[in-house]
Amino acid sequence: MKNKHMKHRLYFITSVLSYLIPICFYCSCSVTPNSKEAFRGIVLYPSDIRSLGSEKLIDILKKTDINLLGLHSNTLTENLDSLKVFLEGPEGQLLIDLCKKNNIDLEYECHVLQEILPRSLFDNHPEYFRMDSNGERRNDLNICFSSEEAWGVIEKNVNGLLEWMQPTTNRYFFWIDDSPDGFCHCDLCKSYSQSEQALIYENRMLKIIRKVNPKATLAHLAYRSTIEAPGNIKPDKGIFLEFAPIKRNYEVPLSSELYSALKENLEVFPKETAHVLEYWLDASMFSSWDRDKWSKVPWNPVYCRRDIELYRNLGIRSFTSFATWMLHQHYFELYGREEAIKVLNEYGSTLKRN
Ligand SMILES: [Zn+2]
Repeated sequence: MKNKHMKHRLYFITSVLSYLIPICFYCSCSVTPNSKEAFRGIVLYPSDIRSLGSEKLIDILKKTDINLLGLHSNTLTENLDSLKVFLEGPEGQLLIDLCKKNNIDLEYECHVLQEILPRSLFDNHPEYFRMDSNGERRNDLNICFSSEEAWGVIEKNVNGLLEWMQPTTNRYFFWIDDSPDGFCHCDLCKSYSQSEQALIYENRMLKIIRKVNPKATLAHLAYRSTIEAPGNIKPDKGIFLEFAPIKRNYEVPLSSELYSALKENLEVFPKETAHVLEYWLDASMFSSWDRDKWSKVPWNPVYCRRDIELYRNLGIRSFTSFATWMLHQHYFELYGREEAIKVLNEYGSTLKRN
């Protein structure tokens, strides 16, 4: 009888432990491949969504493992104003509503500097803008990140932006300008590298955003001229790494230079919040943003899995890929709707499975 009682107790304890051990295991890993923070995203232009319609797009996404949609704007093709017009229109409102209903997060990945410090201010305030390596002020790219007066203008404009741009993840992406050498060489800025100037801007920007949204976090975009890890400037709490290896060769693994740069960045920024923005599905990039080309994405699920494993081995759990011009009616007509959806499915399931 005593033996039987002991057996029951042992069985009870074993059963409880068998439930608790996996729970503890998952609690100790802050982000697992299936938790909400393990983002599996795509980034699109408003024009991609317009071409399909919000309802058709969400129908496609909800049948895949995609749980995050990023909307993109830049100065060259679709600017912030066009994003705002889209979001405030019926298709944009429907998109916001359908994302919510289907548990798909919505973010905005945008180059914003040209809009938050209008270039037209240059005539009266050249000091707001960057000094080039010849000592001349220019309003082509970025700004003088040390100009207090420029920051006064920026804060006012960012407050307007925050009224209509509300990411459901509280992650903000207010990127610097695209450029190989578009930073400031004035006396106050010149001792900082391009990555450090970007981080000075991001630390300051996050303070402004947090006055409106205390839960906000902000991306440090490590890409092209800012791929090198910042040394002399440290990220404030809430700045997360966004690694975007644009124009890499997809047939081979990440180059040793990019891999080292990523590792060095992960020494500066927290691993737990680090995020990769890739181009696996970016038909616009593979077409060199030339609408006359509209090339097919050179998709290879084996390469994608290889890349994801490399990123995961470094502790990264959050991913998006541009899928601009691929989830687009014109792409469907050129290469087949089913083919594009198959690629998207393989991408989403690879992220979920790994
Ligand atoms: Zn400067």
